[in-house]
Amino acid sequence: MSPNRTFEDAVLFHGHRCPGLALGYRAAETGLAALGAGPSGDEEVVAVVENDACGVDGLQVRSGCTFGKGNLVFLDHGKHVYTFFDRRTGKGVRVVSRQDFSTARIDPGFGELRRRVHAGEADEAERAEYDRRLRAVCEAILALPADDLFTVGPATMPLPPEAEIHPSETCAACGESVAAHRVREVDGRRLCIPCAGR
Ligand SMILES: [Zn+2]
Ligand SMILES: [Zn+2]
Repeated sequence: MSPNRTFEDAVLFHGHRCPGLALGYRAAETGLAALGAGPSGDEEVVAVVENDACGVDGLQVRSGCTFGKGNLVFLDHGKHVYTFFDRRTGKGVRVVSRQDFSTARIDPGFGELRRRVHAGEADEAERAEYDRRLRAVCEAILALPADDLFTVGPATMPLPPEAEIHPSETCAACGESVAAHRVREVDGRRLCIPCAGR
């Protein structure tokens, strides 16, 4: 494991430790293993994520697929489904979170304790207890067989096109620079999306 791709690196990146982060981290590990690929140094591995929750931060750290590199694609479907492609082989795998997995299977009282902590109802002892059990739940997620967490099958979508560098234009309304492929033409004026929406 390269030193910046551990789960603790994901916790630093995300800002807190949580089960969702651990699940996204494992989803990336599972997808890369199914592809027979390592983390993406550049853009050879592409991840398509169908939610924008905690898990995607774990996925980015573990897989090396990030928004900035253009090899992380977000589809706003509200589904815990992650598709990974390897551009070198064209292979794609779909990693789907199992509906029969929940943190209650690891620690049945954890959800209620978490609710009390987040609602501000927990005292200091309960908060310490929560921290201890949160660590244990995350450790368990990191250690479980992938089959307990996900089902893995072939990708059901095509490989997304490679990230391109687009030229810029100037919006005729606000005067700010905008990538040409995002310009909207309204009454013959070439506008950025926010100005086009006014
Ligand atoms: Zn989180
Ligand atoms: Zn504008």
